[in-house]
Amino acid sequence: MYLTQPLHKALIEAPDKLATVYGGRRHTYREFVSRVARLAAGLRKLGLKEGDRVAILSLNSDRYAEAIYAIFWAGGVINPVNIRWSPAEIIYSLDDCDSSFLIVDDTFSPMVGPLREGSKSLRTVIHAGDKETPADTHSFEALIRDNRETDDALRSNDDLAAVMYTGGTTGKPKGVMLSHTNLFSNGLGSQAVASMPLRSVTLHAAPTFHVAGTGLILQAVARHSTNVIIPMFEPRAVLEAIQNEKVIETFLVPTMLRMVLAHPEFDNYDLSGLQHMMYGASPMDSTLLNRARHAMPKASFLQAYGMTELSPTVTILTKDWHTDEGFRSGKMNSAGRPLPMVEIRIVDAEDKPVPHGTRGEIVARGPVVMQGYWNKPEQTAQALRNGWMHTGDAGYMDEDGFVYVVDRIKDMIVTGGENVYSAEVEEAVLQMPGVAQCAVIGVPDEDWGERVHATVVLQEGTEMSLDDLMAHCRTLIANYKIPRSLDVRDELPLSPAGKLLKYKLREEHWSDRDRKVS
Ligand code: ATP
Ligand code: MG
Repeated sequence: MYLTQPLHKALIEAPDKLATVYGGRRHTYREFVSRVARLAAGLRKLGLKEGDRVAILSLNSDRYAEAIYAIFWAGGVINPVNIRWSPAEIIYSLDDCDSSFLIVDDTFSPMVGPLREGSKSLRTVIHAGDKETPADTHSFEALIRDNRETDDALRSNDDLAAVMYTGGTTGKPKGVMLSHTNLFSNGLGSQAVASMPLRSVTLHAAPTFHVAGTGLILQAVARHSTNVIIPMFEPRAVLEAIQNEKVIETFLVPTMLRMVLAHPEFDNYDLSGLQHMMYGASPMDSTLLNRARHAMPKASFLQAYGMTELSPTVTILTKDWHTDEGFRSGKMNSAGRPLPMVEIRIVDAEDKPVPHGTRGEIVARGPVVMQGYWNKPEQTAQALRNGWMHTGDAGYMDEDGFVYVVDRIKDMIVTGGENVYSAEVEEAVLQMPGVAQCAVIGVPDEDWGERVHATVVLQEGTEMSLDDLMAHCRTLIANYKIPRSLDVRDELPLSPAGKLLKYKLREEHWSDRDRKVS
């Protein structure tokens, strides 16, 4: 399997279909493939060899998608860089991956000086922007203009395709090695389960550097979809793109979906063309999901669960369960069933499988499992045991094989000897009228070891006391799970992928020596 195969097929099956839409810039698949093959020629001329890593530091754009495919076409390995990293963190990752190439857009071009100064590996910088190309830098467009199409390197199966960094939700991101088969399997598996439309129109709003974003590009191109790309998530931009570009499908993480629904002009947009709303990457609370379902009655909903280390998707909850019946049956609270080629087990601390309904760690096996963490043999051995990827997520499976993701094991709170899953408490808090966002963590407590602590963002004009919150939660969850302290804020710390950075909240309560600060 090689990730460029859909491009060869596109030339035969859909050459005139639009491949990318970015602002006013539009390219058909014929143009897209030609640009990719010429950029690949340029990369080779600049010295790129098979297996070399190429870092990409950019907001989302059509050129980001072209860069990904050109790197594969030239035989290289993509190394998408987290756009929130500081120069020091980027330098660390460039040197860690030994990336001698960097593709950078206008937004991040000013960072190149410090990166060049600090990094030992960086040699060649390609400017994929519209502003003037800085000195010592190659122009992305000139490389395309001045080169002829080169042959596809046709990498395959176990060849490395990407070093993707994890979301950094629980601490320092880790580089994950994914092969062509890993990433191809993700698309195939999702396709088999979800029957997503061929030649669709896909909106990319989540960051491309994150595996969910890269994965969606690969998957959409494999279906010869039109990729409508916005530079970064912004609720109005999402609503306008869906309406104006007649978007058929998109992927949003729950926080993004919440912000789109809360947009004051939500009702003024025509979203009737949207047929598939995919979500995942962090826990979805059922109040929000139901609100979204009713606000977008034409769209069918689909949940994906996975992680960077699993390329990323391993289970999908299909549209059939996003119904009132699915909600009543409880299945809508699950992350669905494993993809056809993926096995999931729930194991205890000794790695023994536990019975249906019992909570344990979710582990997964199959062609989506990463090759390992880049340069981290010990962490690789820790995560990959006997061929099973240990997700660090707590969950259970029901008799029908549906997987329920309960919480990250690291986010579990142990209070008075009882395990409390923070996600379950958050789900209860979020059902309280007036609560817009919520994060539940354990904070130090002399009597209980840890105390359940809620941090909330309220909707404008709402007030709430701890007593109100406790009274509300008491109707929904067991007494020991109820938050015992409350903090009301204007915002919560989020990662660029829209995930709650609970370690930042924990840092305020736990000293460095305490185990809870990751
Ligand atoms: P890091 O590993 O650096 O702390 P991260 O785990 O957020 O960051 P990702 O690989 O992007 O990095 O995210 C995978 C994690 O996201 C999963 O382990 C799980 O905790 C969470 N997740 C993904 N999909 C879902 C889902 N559908 N429901 C609940 N949680 C999910
Ligand atoms: Mg992780």
